[in-house]
Amino acid sequence: ANTAALLDAAARVHGDRDAYVEPGAGRISFAEWRFRARSLAAHLSERGVGKGDVVALILPSGIDYAVCFAAASILGAVTTGVNPRLGPRETEAIFAQARPALVIRDADAGLPAAPEGYPVMSRADAVAAATSGVGVAPTIAVTRSDPVSIVFTSGTTGLPKGAWFDADNLAASAAASGVMSAPYDRRLTGTPFPHAGYMSKLWDQLVWGTAVVMAPVPWSAAGMYTVLREERITVGGGVPTQWEKLLELPDLDRSAFTHLRVGVVGSAPASPALVSRVRDLIGVPLVVRYAMTESPTVTGTEPDDPVEIQFRTVGRPQHGMTVRITGDDGADLSVGEVGRIRIRGGCVTRGYWKAETLTAESFDEDGFFVSGDLGYFTDDGNLVLAGRVGDMYIRGGFNVHPIEVEHTLGEHPNVRQAAVVGHPAPVIGEIGVAFVVPGDSDRPPSLEDLRTWSRARLADYKAPDHVIVVDAIPLNAMAKIDRVALRSLAQEHLS
Ligand code: ATP
Ligand code: MG
Repeated sequence: ANTAALLDAAARVHGDRDAYVEPGAGRISFAEWRFRARSLAAHLSERGVGKGDVVALILPSGIDYAVCFAAASILGAVTTGVNPRLGPRETEAIFAQARPALVIRDADAGLPAAPEGYPVMSRADAVAAATSGVGVAPTIAVTRSDPVSIVFTSGTTGLPKGAWFDADNLAASAAASGVMSAPYDRRLTGTPFPHAGYMSKLWDQLVWGTAVVMAPVPWSAAGMYTVLREERITVGGGVPTQWEKLLELPDLDRSAFTHLRVGVVGSAPASPALVSRVRDLIGVPLVVRYAMTESPTVTGTEPDDPVEIQFRTVGRPQHGMTVRITGDDGADLSVGEVGRIRIRGGCVTRGYWKAETLTAESFDEDGFFVSGDLGYFTDDGNLVLAGRVGDMYIRGGFNVHPIEVEHTLGEHPNVRQAAVVGHPAPVIGEIGVAFVVPGDSDRPPSLEDLRTWSRARLADYKAPDHVIVVDAIPLNAMAKIDRVALRSLAQEHLS
């Protein structure tokens, strides 16, 4: 099958059910989604958009984005989205790689501009064409291995890289969704659509009749609470800080969550306290997912896993995925040994768009994608992340993985969040600097406190050498700890 055929089937089977909901702004059914996508496809085809062309979307996540995505897919065109939080430099890098034949852009929403020289269609014109019902969408032969989408990475370690996916990838992602999907789910999402999460769940949505409900923009805990209740959300969540803020609401009522089947925490590690508090206060299990643009499904925990597994690990490989841990030389390591995480399976990208060399470098000879992440398997088969290759630091000859220290500091009763970076130092090479958001800001934990706490739990060289108390940990555009910013903050403090 291809996306166009699935969309037809979904419109027949799920008809009037919600496909997309923008709370307070609008909603469309599966039938309406197909109708608009086909009208827009007819229009885009007349404008010369055809199979293999790239269509770039600079649109807020929501109904119009989904319509444009489906319209391009009907034509066999390749959709790419520009994350609204990116700056001009990143946007230019993305365009230089994707070379879109058409850009659909909302000029009013404060989104990045399209770099010069690309044909642009306004959001208003796209919506007018989509709702017109004029024209007949051509029937294009699109196969399972034709590209459907290019998704750019977050650019945490450099400029964004464009991973591309075909229909087989989407089918594999749908098959691997496991606990994340049940018939007629109502899924709350705050992940920007240009990100891998949207594209990888597209087929899943069409098959199960899932309503995708947008988290409030701008995000607020009170807004999220209202949406969870009024839209009868069954699955969804947010990044750890969003769950924290939700739990802090003064008048949290468990009955708002009666439909919620499973909560999801993504992007960054969840603290142990968070996992238990969500269970206790909201009454739903919180599951953790490990994923990346290049493989939007890798591992996950299950709802009935004990709390320690939910926060210490990222669970087991999802259906159809194989994860290996290797040394730098590519040899497999034993259980408990930290090494490079390599991934193979149906969800893994076909490669980086028009970047053969980068693609070749990123896969080993057995076809495993070599992620930049480090981790190890526990003896019960759960994967523990140890951070990125570049985040590890070496203190007096010993490797320290910041995530492990962060987890341990995070368990201190007076620490809400901790982030650790290495900092150059004479003689011992590097030292550990911990940034800490205190639980009680009037009496923040002292360096001695945290060193004692850490030494009681981890090897002594892992204890932080400096503690810097902050109000919040700086995050990047994808709500991940911004370690580049932290390293320069450490530099400022310690020089
Ligand atoms: P770039 O590849 O451009 O440097 P990026 O890797 O941050 O950016 P993404 O593909 O959005 O871009 O992020 C995937 C990464 O996020 C993973 O490789 C991993 O390092 C991190 N990650 C994913 N899930 C988790 C999780 N549950 N806990 C901690 N880190 C996670
Ligand atoms: Mg990456």
